[in-house]
Amino acid sequence: MTVPDELLERLRRFHDDAFPLQRSVFRSLVDDGQHPTTLFIGCSDSRLVPYLLTGAGPGELFLVRNVGAFVPPHDGSAGFHGTAAAIEFAVLNLDVRRIVVCGHSHCGGVRALYTGVPDNAPNLRSWLELGREAALPVAEPGPEALRRTEQRAVVLQLERLMDYPMVRERVEAGRLTLHGWHYVIEDGEVHVFDVQRGGFVPASAADNPGTGPYRFADGEGASGLDASGVPAA
Ligand SMILES: [Zn+2]
Repeated sequence: MTVPDELLERLRRFHDDAFPLQRSVFRSLVDDGQHPTTLFIGCSDSRLVPYLLTGAGPGELFLVRNVGAFVPPHDGSAGFHGTAAAIEFAVLNLDVRRIVVCGHSHCGGVRALYTGVPDNAPNLRSWLELGREAALPVAEPGPEALRRTEQRAVVLQLERLMDYPMVRERVEAGRLTLHGWHYVIEDGEVHVFDVQRGGFVPASAADNPGTGPYRFADGEGASGLDASGVPAA
């Protein structure tokens, strides 16, 4: 006699109940291949649910998630950088039109920039260095400082994305737009980084979903990206 396993039960339920409703969608995604237009780089946090936030369905988001929603440097020593590989694949093979970097409130990865990590987590320790520059010079950050750090970390990753030659090329050609998002879990609202306003604006009050480049009257593109664009205090 087998012990019922909840996860196994869920798999069966998906196959029996949910999948039949979308069978034709998946069929055409197999026949025609995937053509997602958005690369979504999100924090691994379980409370961040990209499909819920964006209303996306199968085939719409190319997803990569990691602690903090960080972007490794393009010129990092050749190694096992899953996120960097996903960026290259999404841009070069899938020709995505948007890249979203999505951080969030109450991010444990960002908090760990201040609190440190266990001694037996060397990978986590070095990974968090990708957010180090976003940290503020305070020892015990309050909720406001943490939120600012989370937002600054998002902008830092956008800057690092621009160091990927295939990203920069397409952004400058107006073929790719970058989007910095900060999701506030308790409000259910995404704040989008507006490079012109130099800060994050609630989606409900934003003119556009990210940093552009958009067709600005003054011709300004995404080149104004700067972590210091987010007020430090
Ligand atoms: Zn997080």
